[in-house]
Amino acid sequence: MIVKKTPEQIDKMAAAGDILVRTLELVERKIRPGITTKELDVAAEKFIRSQGATPAFKGYRGFPGSLCISPNSMVVHGIPGSYTLRKGDILSVDCGVVLDGWVADAARTFAVGAISQTARKLLDTTEKSLFAAAEQCRPGNRLGDVSHSVQAVVEAQGLSIVRSLVGHGIGRAMHEDPQIPNYGAPGKGVRLEEGMVFAVEPMVTAGRHGVRLADDHWAIYSQDGSLAAHFEFTIAVTADGPRVLTPWHQSGP
Ligand code: MG
Ligand code: MG
Repeated sequence: MIVKKTPEQIDKMAAAGDILVRTLELVERKIRPGITTKELDVAAEKFIRSQGATPAFKGYRGFPGSLCISPNSMVVHGIPGSYTLRKGDILSVDCGVVLDGWVADAARTFAVGAISQTARKLLDTTEKSLFAAAEQCRPGNRLGDVSHSVQAVVEAQGLSIVRSLVGHGIGRAMHEDPQIPNYGAPGKGVRLEEGMVFAVEPMVTAGRHGVRLADDHWAIYSQDGSLAAHFEFTIAVTADGPRVLTPWHQSGP
């Protein structure tokens, strides 16, 4: 069942989203060769709590971090730890924030210094696919329009959608109905209505689409070792069109 939100509730989710955006900006400023993913996580948790919010991921099914931090061929769900960033890495940072019982969820993949042409194309294309999907989050469209728009942008560049991982509805719970695949047929699926709120999150590899679970039972890697990117917005379907509640794209240089 898809739980719709009132405009007032969407405003509360946007307040959580604002803290999340500022957390990602903080992480971005700290990213440099030599820093560990654990250091980024500690800084993010401290900031989130300083704002009167809590990190949604910490303790979720036992997850130990406040961020999921996934370098290079790791797609998602990386546990922050001793991994030390190197020039040329790409780093996916996923964050969840709870404020007054409402959750926001968003992710970006950052470049650590200069990156390869392959990596640049992967990041630019994955981000563009999220922007295309966000545009589709309007009353009267279908969920398949959202899914298909990701797929069309990604596959036009010869990159691969990770098919076994999906986006989701979001609200008082981090994961609500519906599931939102990053591939699908336009004009099919649930009809979008005002008040629905989605976490849309393309996960894309520069190689093939298969993934594997790491020995820690959390991290998910591309099976073929190819680079992976992850960009995510929390987006509300409103009468005025899509409203991005985690607008990390409009802030900062
Ligand atoms: Mg996320
Ligand atoms: Mg999510």
